[in-house]
Amino acid sequence: MVRYHIWTIGCQMNKAESERLENLFARDGMTPTENAEDADFILLNTCVVRKHAEDRVVNKVHTLKRLKKANPDLTLAITGCWVDSNQAQMKKDFPFIDHFFRAGEKPPWLDNPAWQHVTPHNPQVTAYVPIIQGCNNFCAYCIVPYRRGPEKSRPVSEIVCETRELVKRGVREVTLLGQNVDSYGHDLKDRPGLADLLVELDDIEGLWRIRFLTNHPKDMSPRLIDTIAKLGKVCESLNIPVQAGSNEILKLMRRGYSAEDYTRLIESIREKIPGVSLSNDVIVGFPTETEAQFQQTVDLLTGLRFDMVHVAAYSPRPGTIAAREYEDDVPQEEKKRRVAIIETLQEKIATEINAELQGQDVEVLVEGKQKGKWYGRTGTDKIIFFSSQENWQGKLATIRIIRTSPWSLQGNVVS
Ligand code: SF4
Repeated sequence: MVRYHIWTIGCQMNKAESERLENLFARDGMTPTENAEDADFILLNTCVVRKHAEDRVVNKVHTLKRLKKANPDLTLAITGCWVDSNQAQMKKDFPFIDHFFRAGEKPPWLDNPAWQHVTPHNPQVTAYVPIIQGCNNFCAYCIVPYRRGPEKSRPVSEIVCETRELVKRGVREVTLLGQNVDSYGHDLKDRPGLADLLVELDDIEGLWRIRFLTNHPKDMSPRLIDTIAKLGKVCESLNIPVQAGSNEILKLMRRGYSAEDYTRLIESIREKIPGVSLSNDVIVGFPTETEAQFQQTVDLLTGLRFDMVHVAAYSPRPGTIAAREYEDDVPQEEKKRRVAIIETLQEKIATEINAELQGQDVEVLVEGKQKGKWYGRTGTDKIIFFSSQENWQGKLATIRIIRTSPWSLQGNVVS
């Protein structure tokens, strides 16, 4: 029996691609193993969006070298954003790796031209569906466009077909993925937009919920916001990264909007989609960011109050505009201090927002069990845990919230 092992780090797109690659192994009659040492085929799906992630990849590659030495029959493959366009050089640098292929591309050992139509091997009640690959934006700090290449949308019909197939296999919620989902469709005939795609998917019988990530503030159109507000299955939860609250820093980051543009966008979304929950991504310690400019980020987050904020310290990525043009001049200790300030602020805001849910009844799509408790998410992307002897897997439950925290909620089954 041939055994495979897949190691994945990074974003949801990597997870989605690994789920599909898993299906390809399963089709070939291979079985998964948790333990890399037991595998005949090891695939790494990698991330280099921050230095920390890249360090983990490099460590893993060194482990592979040892495993290959001990077992020359072992097949090794690497994909994801660690793989750059110069694969000939990578092959020279890492001769013990059998296959390199760029994120989202067809694995080189396959002759199956329809590999993109492969659905996840064992979909759960929720599934990721990539809708657009790559990115055309070249934000100054970001390595993704160099590694994943230019934007390439999947046709509407293909995405609808795949979603129908997933629903047949028990999926009730899909999360559409793209580095910038708002630019979906501009490269397709008839130029459909994300709004058109949502309308098509909303029609699929048996599909209950639709989510999508990630939005770009400069590309979210009023039509898209109206469509989200109108369609019953599209969840009232959006991730819209601002990255910084200072206009000077936003300009250096090449984000294409100002803090005022962003604030207007959030206000319009909140007006059109009442009860919407919003999450955000922020980078602190970008080159030249002063204390006053950092404070503008703090002020923006304090004023707009998001349900969730992911904060990261700036980490120069070789080859990006920021790494080439600006000195990484904010000391590491100072970056850490800024991260901690935002984390503390966000914990307070999320505590207050979630406390308002105490005593309310909410609808939860149950995804599974953890430590003996059922868990699932609301349409607003809040994680809820509850106890019940019944089997709630894949069902919708109405839960009364009895306890709240900044990160999750606890409740009792109402029905
Ligand atoms: S929009 Fe900017 S941050 Fe997002 S993937 Fe593209 S370049 Fe990177």
